[in-house]
Amino acid sequence: MLSGKVALVTGASRGIGAAVARKLASQGAAVAVIYCGNTEAANAVVEEITATYGVNAKAYQCDVASLEQCSQVAKQVSSELGAIDILVNNAGVTRDNLLALMSEDEFDKVIDTNLKGAFNMTKACVRGFIKKKQGRIINISSVSGLSGIAGQSNYSASKAGVIGLTKAVAKELASKNVTCNAIAPGFIETDMTKGLDAESFVKAIPLSRLGKPEDIASLAAFLASDSASYITGEVIRVDGGLAM
Ligand code: NAP
Repeated sequence: MLSGKVALVTGASRGIGAAVARKLASQGAAVAVIYCGNTEAANAVVEEITATYGVNAKAYQCDVASLEQCSQVAKQVSSELGAIDILVNNAGVTRDNLLALMSEDEFDKVIDTNLKGAFNMTKACVRGFIKKKQGRIINISSVSGLSGIAGQSNYSASKAGVIGLTKAVAKELASKNVTCNAIAPGFIETDMTKGLDAESFVKAIPLSRLGKPEDIASLAAFLASDSASYITGEVIRVDGGLAM
């Protein structure tokens, strides 16, 4: 159980992040619901989890690509909800294109949000973890960062970068009792995958179904729990066997 813990989840207005926020709240954690543009959806998540689980929760707008905004929000969360114990770097975007056609903007947007965003929010939270002598960092990578996917050179690079970041941070902070792990989802049913050819993916998935946001949330809650205190620097696929 996570009673008394404070969690900051980026990209928690929708999809996987919203499911992670719900799951952590269901185990008693106070949750900072970080979002970028979707104020209504973020407030709805906050209302739902406070009404359902009776925990403290609040929505905070922050573009994770900005270190300044991440630092400000981390400070605000610490003073309003309490010192942060659990950071879930989940915010992410895609701008798929073949490399020959990919614009510099498409490449930069994905790297700035997915990779630099995880660096920024981790940097914003790390002093608090060191001071508290405890912390859990959970980064959402992707099977795209493990195997590479055609049309996703920007996204695959960002998610492979998140894995490198995870391992370096895990080594740096282990002596401070801070763990850092990555989850690599496969094809999960969210806004991000709407419009993709789900049927062709299902054929390649040994468990013969798409993933649900809750499949990722369960593992995030485990990695945040005391039961996972001896796991760090690990990358765990939750993909129905897709990238095996
Ligand atoms: P989603 O439904 O598209 O939601 C994306 C979330 O990220 C939203 O809450 C959005 O906030 C937030 N966000 C986007 N840009 C941001 C920024 N600059 N600053 C702060 N927040 C930002 O995506 P999802 O499918 O749940 O994906 C969540 C994570 O899992 C991503 O890192 C994604 O790469 C990864 N992943 C997803 C899949 C999949 O199949 N869905 C597979 C592998 C990995 P607003 O709502 O305010 O815009």
